[in-house]
Amino acid sequence: MAAKKASAKKSIHRKVEKSKKEYRKHDAHKEIYNKEYHEVKYSEEHRCPVCGSRIDENGMCACGAGGS
Ligand SMILES: [Zn+2]
Repeated sequence: MAAKKASAKKSIHRKVEKSKKEYRKHDAHKEIYNKEYHEVKYSEEHRCPVCGSRIDENGMCACGAGGS
């Protein structure tokens, strides 16, 4: 019984790992800007008034508020 429980837990973990990979395949930055998130340049001076994060070169913020 205990062994069965452990293997079930393992398969759930594997499912999570797979969904992470699926998520990475659909990178929003890449789809919208054709860039990876780490290739997008961020402004040092301009910050999002909503969440306080830096605004990227497209005037957008991760929270979706945008810089303009
Ligand atoms: Zn924001």
